[in-house]
Amino acid sequence: MNPFITIKELKLKLERKEISAAEVRAFYTDRIKKFNPDLNAVLEIFESNESTETGPLAGIPGLLKDNICQKGHITSAGSKILANYQAPYSATVTTRLQEAGAELIGRANMDEFAMGGSGEFSAYGPTKNPWDAQYIPGGSSSGPGAAVAAGLVPFAIGSETGGSVRSPATFCNLVGMRPTYGSISRFGIVPFASSLDQAGPLTRTVYDNALVFSALAGKDANDSSTLQREPKDYTAGLDGKLPKNLKIGIIREALEAEGIDPEVRNVFDNAVNQLKSMGATISVIDIPNLKYGIALYFIISRAEAASNLYRYDGTLYGVRSKEAKTLVDMYLNTREAGFGTEVKRRILVGNYTLSAGHRDAYYDKAQQIRAMLRAEFEAVFANVDLLISPTCPILPWKINALIDDPLAMWLSDYFLVSNCITGTPALAIPGGFAQNGLPIGFQFLGPSLSEELLYKVAHAFQENTDYHTKYPKGYE
Ligand code: GLN
Repeated sequence: MNPFITIKELKLKLERKEISAAEVRAFYTDRIKKFNPDLNAVLEIFESNESTETGPLAGIPGLLKDNICQKGHITSAGSKILANYQAPYSATVTTRLQEAGAELIGRANMDEFAMGGSGEFSAYGPTKNPWDAQYIPGGSSSGPGAAVAAGLVPFAIGSETGGSVRSPATFCNLVGMRPTYGSISRFGIVPFASSLDQAGPLTRTVYDNALVFSALAGKDANDSSTLQREPKDYTAGLDGKLPKNLKIGIIREALEAEGIDPEVRNVFDNAVNQLKSMGATISVIDIPNLKYGIALYFIISRAEAASNLYRYDGTLYGVRSKEAKTLVDMYLNTREAGFGTEVKRRILVGNYTLSAGHRDAYYDKAQQIRAMLRAEFEAVFANVDLLISPTCPILPWKINALIDDPLAMWLSDYFLVSNCITGTPALAIPGGFAQNGLPIGFQFLGPSLSEELLYKVAHAFQENTDYHTKYPKGYE
């Protein structure tokens, strides 16, 4: 079987009984065993299947990012502090996939507590990019991205706080959806920054992505932030055509911001021209407060992370340090030994911004600018249907190249974080390749609840281009 088969094609094969679900599962499990020692994308293979045998994803294998609970399995969020944490219940994402018939065959590596954009910050070692193992695959959903790109699985579920699905999508030539905040339940997903966190699928095609999203989206009584969305088949409108009179806005920074790699700009220009030739009207728009996106994300995500991560102190969850004489020493030793450098950096900054005397100046101020940014996005979407921008301003970097330069890494999230702050959706798709052969993606951003439109436009783009049909060498 072609390991890069789409879910759509695999579904047909299963329905026609050309292959059985057990054979498909064994095929991909064997591939993980063969290729994962080099890639380090998968942390554990699940041997048994708890899914129903019917449903829209019946027999389709997938991986869960290591921060999504599956009852009875370890969920470590890429951290040593949760190395022994066995989930007592399943995330809603997990049960919905199981109800749709998907075969969950393992859990995938990630940056610790989803803090990172490269896949280098997992306590279980960095994940490699299948396109070139010297390079990062993007993060923090590094394992989900690398695994789908290498054909170890047809789909994986990642999570985004500020771009963590779209970053690996871009660097691994995949499709990654960051849905409207509240589309997918966060119940059973290890929290990072609760006002930003949202899960999303990684797949090789837009169609497949819409199919998986259809199984996940919807109200959940266990997560009060979920929206009342009627269950829908998001593949239904995918006819390969752009909607009539489609208006797409280019975010001016995409053309003018310093630090955009010329090869990224080139891919972006080509995508814009392609969409024009397909009939879209393109205009350049301004979002004046976009430049504050990184600062807002920095403050809000660190503050909420510090609050969420206070619970890992050795009393309730995970690994407890035994070398302590007093209770306070136990807390300190547990956190000192359990958290990695990047996580500690963020907890420190987060607690500082929330501390007495600083909260007004940082967290509360950030919430005010957040409201302004939201209003600016709304105003823009009164005039254009969608926005388009690069996903990441720079090319994937070599593993360890930026490890001592956290600022450069954080800045690479420039185009990824703003819509997470406003709670609006974005879809990253393949757009071409750099001279060194590594993939480059771009993204569409839409107003709240515009997933259907995002999928329709991106699908039409894929029907007219072939970037998404290219696979990394050596994984046939
Ligand atoms: N790269 C971003 C960060 O480091 C995004 C993380 C995420 O979306 N989980 O925080």
